[in-house]
Amino acid sequence: MRFGRGRRDETGEVAARHGDDALVVTTRNAMQEAGFLDDLLTSLEGAGISTSVYDDANPNPTVSNVVDCVETAPDAELVVALGGGSPTDVAKTAALSLGTFDGVPSVDEVWEYASGEKSVEDAVPTVALPSTSGTGSHVDPWAVVTRVDERAKVGFGGDALVPHDAVVDADILDEMPASLAARTGFDALCHLNEAYVARGSNSLTDANALRGMEIINRNLRRSADGSSEARESMAVADTLAGFCEATSGTVATHGLAHAISAYEPDVAHGQALASVTAEVARYNVENGDDETKRRYGEIAETLGFPVADRKLDAPFVVEAFDELIEDIGLNASVGDLTDATPEELAENTVENMGLVLRNNPVELEEEDLVGILEEAY
Ligand code: NDP
Ligand code: MN
Repeated sequence: MRFGRGRRDETGEVAARHGDDALVVTTRNAMQEAGFLDDLLTSLEGAGISTSVYDDANPNPTVSNVVDCVETAPDAELVVALGGGSPTDVAKTAALSLGTFDGVPSVDEVWEYASGEKSVEDAVPTVALPSTSGTGSHVDPWAVVTRVDERAKVGFGGDALVPHDAVVDADILDEMPASLAARTGFDALCHLNEAYVARGSNSLTDANALRGMEIINRNLRRSADGSSEARESMAVADTLAGFCEATSGTVATHGLAHAISAYEPDVAHGQALASVTAEVARYNVENGDDETKRRYGEIAETLGFPVADRKLDAPFVVEAFDELIEDIGLNASVGDLTDATPEELAENTVENMGLVLRNNPVELEEEDLVGILEEAY
């Protein structure tokens, strides 16, 4: 990883290790308007790399985005992502496609990998320059794509999808409007707190998760207010969160949020997460074992709540989340975001996000998800 202001100019040097024909992936406006796409192309071309640009990735990207992206440069040797989780995940899935198929795959062929029917083996190298702090996608093995016709938003991955290099340059993060900084910062907090309570948690996750949450408690509000210094700190938290996603994964919160965006592709991921986070935590505290309670108590403490006994005071985590969500302007209920019913959302979660449900600290049946969603509606 290269980490620091101005270091985007080193991308060419980094990328040249992986080939001389790059497919650059971004969204439609932000990176062009701020001049960062030009900076990137200059750096790549300066290192002798020829470039093709795909700049049509949707927020909550689709499998069709991936197919169109591959079509832009079917012979590319590496993929460079410039943007938030959306273009990064398109880039990673395009890298999988370039490494796996001869020529341009169909939507159905890509979906076989995204849906988990086939396992990820080969991908061409990816280099990621995140523009949000955020998804942790620049350092984790996951990609998230949506198949609109099936109302399915899935996460999938494999070692081959871990970007070979990441260049984190806070100059790019300074351009985020307040609401984007708030939403994406909340996503990073979710990766951290979910990994901390996940069945798959371990000591390495714990260290990164606790440190990351501490940083977020001190910086997320200020980052949403536009502080450059806080945004640099949020980039650290986002990266630690990406490590946590890699070592432990997420839980039911992410499952439910994906179902909301599957029904409402215009609802941003971080906003969907904010609508269910407190109620998933409440359910897990009420039904979890002592260790789960203790961990939620520690999360409340890390988020600045006075906690005397982590196990007994675990329910404070609900208030801690609610306060933060209110402070950064993300307070919307599930019913504010979608007309889909709790039953529909629960079924969609079970169908598409079984992996994270199995990672939840408390076993969850579909009817339990309906209960959580009714509380969050
Ligand atoms: P997006 O990448 O969707 O970005 C949203 C929009 O913000 C973009 O379309 C872009 O606008 C604008 N934008 C991005 N960066 C900047 C900036 N620096 N300045 C100004 N505007 C900017 O947001 P996220 O990063 O939240 O990514 C969300 C996606 O990532 C979801 O699909 C989510 O499910 C996924 N995700 C992936 C994970 C993983 O591990 N792979 C983990 C968690 C979430 P414009 O289009 O106008 O250019
Ligand atoms: Mn997320």
